[in-house]
Amino acid sequence: MLARTNSWIATAAGEPRGYIDTPALRELWFHTGTACNLKCPFCLEGSKPGDDRLQLMTLADVKPFIDEAVELGVENFSFTGGEPFVAREFHLILDYALQFRPCLVLTNGTRPVLQRMAQIEPLRDAPHPLRFRISIDYPDRERHEAGRGEGTFKESFEALQQLHAKGFEVSIARQWEADENTDQVEAEFQKHLRAFGLPDSLRLVSFPDFLPPGSQAEVPEITENCMTEHHTAESRAQFMCAFSRMVVKQGGKLGVYACTLVDDDPDYNLGSTLKESLEPRVMLRHHRCFSCFKHGASCSEI
Ligand code: SF4
Repeated sequence: MLARTNSWIATAAGEPRGYIDTPALRELWFHTGTACNLKCPFCLEGSKPGDDRLQLMTLADVKPFIDEAVELGVENFSFTGGEPFVAREFHLILDYALQFRPCLVLTNGTRPVLQRMAQIEPLRDAPHPLRFRISIDYPDRERHEAGRGEGTFKESFEALQQLHAKGFEVSIARQWEADENTDQVEAEFQKHLRAFGLPDSLRLVSFPDFLPPGSQAEVPEITENCMTEHHTAESRAQFMCAFSRMVVKQGGKLGVYACTLVDDDPDYNLGSTLKESLEPRVMLRHHRCFSCFKHGASCSEI
């Protein structure tokens, strides 16, 4: 954790910055590393083949955090990347985590997943359920593949189909646009789901464009006042940083960040243990905090 400047606690105009407290850890995320088989220009993590801004996790890295989280009463483990299935030990990590709690995996559903189905299948018999959320940005194949690459649309639907057939719960993460016709977008997705023999009631989770890491977006600052005028205790409790944390590996060290959206800002590294990370207030300074404030953006399924 670094010494923070005044901007951590106050806005540019000197007003007290909005914040979130974290009374308990309900969900723990692991960032398995920014290495990915794809190189999408819009990736909020800047992931690409061979990238090591955040390093690949091993079973030995995650074990102490899983054990500590269980002691703290965590309800769910979630995993994101990069592409988690690029991490060689990922199936072992899931096998360990599933002994204790349900798990959610965010994946692109392309070759790394399809090639490792034989390692994934036995996880269905673990003591807790494993769910997958596969990124399919748009129901338009060409538009999806413009970012993710040729052939990825079909691969991701095939992964959904195979995981569903093996008995895993699956959902889709899609891109949300302010001017979209949501009913129409969802109806188009449902057509593809039916064509792949999947239930058209499958959950679609939508996300705004979070911009690549290190971007400086022009968004209003969130003051303490904004958080009481526009939010209630109940809605503040829905912010991911009010109940979750994310473990990352950076420069060979493991650290605990406030949520899945702020690992490009070292001020959000809240400590080296989960207990330590729950103590500080999470100040809403990152530009992505505004998506949570305004749109209720959340990677969580809790
Ligand atoms: S991005 Fe959202 S969840 Fe993360 S610290 Fe900001 S407000 Fe909290």
